[in-house]
Amino acid sequence: MTTTAWAPGRVNLIGDHTDHTGGFVLPMAIDLGTTVVGNVTDDRFVRLSSDHDPATISLPVPVVDPARFEPVWGRYVAGVAAELELSTGFTGTVTTTLPVGSGLSSSASLLVATALALGADPSNHRELALMCQRAEQRAAGVPCGVMDHLAVVEGRAGHALLIDTSSLHVEPVPLPDDVEVVVVHSGEPRRLASSPYAERRARCEAAQAELGSLRSASLVDVEQIADPTVRAAARHVVTENQRVLAAADALRDGDVIEVGRLMTASHASLRHDLDVSTPALDALVHRLVATRGVYGARLTGAGFGGCVVALARPGAVTEGWVVRASGGAGLRRRR
Ligand code: ADP
Ligand code: MG
Repeated sequence: MTTTAWAPGRVNLIGDHTDHTGGFVLPMAIDLGTTVVGNVTDDRFVRLSSDHDPATISLPVPVVDPARFEPVWGRYVAGVAAELELSTGFTGTVTTTLPVGSGLSSSASLLVATALALGADPSNHRELALMCQRAEQRAAGVPCGVMDHLAVVEGRAGHALLIDTSSLHVEPVPLPDDVEVVVVHSGEPRRLASSPYAERRARCEAAQAELGSLRSASLVDVEQIADPTVRAAARHVVTENQRVLAAADALRDGDVIEVGRLMTASHASLRHDLDVSTPALDALVHRLVATRGVYGARLTGAGFGGCVVALARPGAVTEGWVVRASGGAGLRRRR
């Protein structure tokens, strides 16, 4: 029996560095993604090739330590196999239409597609997302949040997803017909595992050690924090949560001008308060926002290179990828 599993990538419209403090995010699953095709085998190896990486993986199961596996991309597969306590073999291929390492969550897409191909339960969305988050943390040694995995699993065509990362409640928010979401690469590669992501996360945790949950903190509370970098990080999180909720309201009202304004304000906050932007990302956002018909633009993903997302009138942006809000990950089995 041949199994085909597909998982989308995602673009985060607004809400960066809020997911690891239990706040709000507004991503959408996109019509670019990862496909894993293969068969269960009698031996105890997971063998996969990828059209993105010439190094094939030959992973003995059960997996002992996903973080040591070579080649590095196989660690994601090993993380999933370890979480599933897999003890049967699988041979197959991975193909992707996503730009890898660019902030469109090729890693969560790979994890979820692999998990489904290797036998994870497709019906329990929340557990599937949490399992893939744990797999990524074990594989890459990055304390990533759950937004990517949940967005990839819960995608809904034509909708963005307002996610409360404390309760994991997902509310689909319809996207107006007369806008385009465009993703443009800054030209700067980005790899979460080697970026100062963990250090920025630590700033937010230091703020929470002083104030308690940033989700319920006010700007008055934030001003009590003595350390200026921790204070600025907290300011970003508190104002970003407000922008996410305001952007979801504006989307529901079809007010794309307001959504765009909030996106551009989010970029400024990521740049000034959290310091996760780069000159290339800033220049790209500046250029896009100055383009006729663009409502707003911001870096997307955790920063430190990668892509910018813009909200625009259809046809206004002539570079990058026009992405459409897509359904979530799924599975097909054939004899
Ligand atoms: P992003 O998730 O934004 O694309 P990450 O740095 O989180 O960036 O993940 C990128 C990593 O995921 C790659 O370096 C690679 O190890 C792995 N990866 C993702 N998709 C694939 C794929 N199709 N084939 C091989 N490796 C992949
Ligand atoms: Mg990723």
